[in-house]
Amino acid sequence: MKNENELETKTIKNNFFKDKKNIAIIVLLFLLFCVSCAYIMPTDVSRYENELTELNNQITYLQSQINNLKTENATLKEEKTKLEKDKNNLEEQKNTLESEKQELNKKIDELAKAKEKEENSATLAKSSSSQLSTSATVTNSPSTNTSSSANNNNSQMVWVGNTGTKYHKQNCRTLKGNGHQITLQQALAEGREACKVCY
Ligand SMILES: [Zn+2]
Repeated sequence: MKNENELETKTIKNNFFKDKKNIAIIVLLFLLFCVSCAYIMPTDVSRYENELTELNNQITYLQSQINNLKTENATLKEEKTKLEKDKNNLEEQKNTLESEKQELNKKIDELAKAKEKEENSATLAKSSSSQLSTSATVTNSPSTNTSSSANNNNSQMVWVGNTGTKYHKQNCRTLKGNGHQITLQQALAEGREACKVCY
């Protein structure tokens, strides 16, 4: 039984390969496959190549953009450091100005206090001056007395010699009985001074 089966398969194979039609069909199929490969593959390859070049272009473009962004980032960082420095400087200036402002406020307060004190003292002085004025009115009469004595002085008579730049009392020994009488006012007007012997 086994031998018979083997024989059958062998004869079938032989028959298949012996049939030239079958071989021709196989060859044709193979050629068709090859042709189809030759037509389809290059277009695909070229398409993929195009896509690849496009992707490469995109990559280079993106890399350039990355570089640009890096440079921008660097410049922005520099600007940031600059701005931070400026900010620090401005904060320092602000602090100094605030301290100056505080000092000025202190001065203003001091001046206001001084002004208040002055006003208080002025009011005190006013009250005291009013008191003084009352006392002045009280002491007014003696002052008028002194002014009257001054008038007496003005009308006082003195003696002057024919020579010399002094004025004397009547009995001065330097006059030796000479000289004449003028008012003290006139003697002072002439630039005369009191004699050291008699005055
Ligand atoms: Zn004299």
